[in-house]
Amino acid sequence: MEFRKNDLVTITIEDFGSEGEGIGKVDGFPIFVKDAIVGDTVEVRIVKYMKTYAYGRLEKVLEPSPFRVEPKCAFHRQCGGCQLQALSYEKQLLFKQEKIKNHLIRIGGFSPEYVDTHMESIIGMEVPYRYRNKAQYPIGTDREGNVIAGFYAGRTHNIIPNQKCWLGTEENETVLDCILNYMRRYGVTAYEEASGTGLVRHVLIRKGFASGELMVCLVLNLRKKSDSGRFLPRQKELIDSLAQIRGMTSVSVSINTERTNVIMGKEIHTLWGSDTIRDIIHVRDMGQAGYPYTGEKLEFMISPLSFYQVNPVQTEKLYSLVREYACLTGQETVWDLYCGIGTISLFLAQSAGRVYGVEVIPQAIEDARENARRNGITNAEFHVGKAEEVLTGGKNKTGERGLVLPPPNLIVVDPPRKGCDGVCLEVMLQMRPDKIIYVSCDSATLARDLKVLCEGGYEVAKVRGVDQFGHTVHVEVACCLQRKDL
Ligand code: SAH
Repeated sequence: MEFRKNDLVTITIEDFGSEGEGIGKVDGFPIFVKDAIVGDTVEVRIVKYMKTYAYGRLEKVLEPSPFRVEPKCAFHRQCGGCQLQALSYEKQLLFKQEKIKNHLIRIGGFSPEYVDTHMESIIGMEVPYRYRNKAQYPIGTDREGNVIAGFYAGRTHNIIPNQKCWLGTEENETVLDCILNYMRRYGVTAYEEASGTGLVRHVLIRKGFASGELMVCLVLNLRKKSDSGRFLPRQKELIDSLAQIRGMTSVSVSINTERTNVIMGKEIHTLWGSDTIRDIIHVRDMGQAGYPYTGEKLEFMISPLSFYQVNPVQTEKLYSLVREYACLTGQETVWDLYCGIGTISLFLAQSAGRVYGVEVIPQAIEDARENARRNGITNAEFHVGKAEEVLTGGKNKTGERGLVLPPPNLIVVDPPRKGCDGVCLEVMLQMRPDKIIYVSCDSATLARDLKVLCEGGYEVAKVRGVDQFGHTVHVEVACCLQRKDL
């Protein structure tokens, strides 16, 4: 197919790519179009073409798809955050179900029939807005020199000013207003990435949905505190106004002077209130319609640096699903690798013999231990380290002795997007637990790792998506594997 850059073509969108782009064809030649939806007939300008496919920019929707809806957010096309807002939520769920299925087939090597018989239908959200308990807003300066907060335009670090994100809480707007007013009033500078100068880089806001508690952490490019021991000029004025906001529980700063994309610095100082906020996660009965509460619940403490699932309502369903998959009898030894602040460990500890959590961030492990104490759980212990380094069973690559934990009946893993390290998979196979439950936020790396585990003697018993990230292309998946020879 011959295209030239800037050619205009008319296509009908037939499919979605894994990043949510619409795919249409001209004489069988695929064109990927961001913001176009299956069923749309669109006019597209070719912006880049390769040997076997091209990228087009959506110029005009000539005939809208029946699955098109009016997005709530005026910035949905510019923002890098949501990719699917113009698609009905019902179809978003179908897209995610198909995405998981395709990865399992194409990357995992499973047959379509196998996937169809073992995959349960995705668990969607009742209200796919205002679901995020965490927001990280970049702070910058516009051309006129005004301090702004907003979001990065897709794939860039240009900040588009917008304090209203429909995925986050309403309090986010109030907190940002408060911080921007303070910065404008006292001439506090925003960080400038190009020069590495300026003070305030990001604002992190977290809310415990069940407790109503709010946490604000300002990320500062600051080498040295002022002589008076303050981190911010007129610090008291900022704290006084933040403290007025209903639910405000913790105000802190994080020091990050590195010229990197990493948002948070490792050093945290609490300026006001508590170091942490609380949240409650209820156990749900996943076997019944509407997934009602069972009455059991756990309280967690969250600090600025520790990982905590961003969608608390769906997290209850995810963890309850893990518990259902685990089918514990009260005797089992369980390993929870990549355990964060111990959420899954503690969810399982109530019906297991003993649970061992492993996690690389020391602060998260401290939180996990405190969370166990708070919930009166005495059969869970937590260890700091990389799963692939501490669990060698003997010596690791550098000759140090690793952790020797009692052999598990069940291993749960919940790694970041890049999936499990090869050594970690090897150790899991060597330990030969009856069951492995793999929780994943990236179905491609999940499928890759499942292939290794299935070649190593396991089979997928059940797999199910849980939509934690409505309007984005991301999806969480829980997969239950069983040892084949049992
Ligand atoms: N299961 C937890 C956390 C899941 S997120 C929950 O549901 O809340 C993944 C966690 O893995 C993060 O806390 C991250 O800090 C941790 N992590 C990343 N790489 C790791 C590694 N190599 N070994 C152990 N933990 C790791």
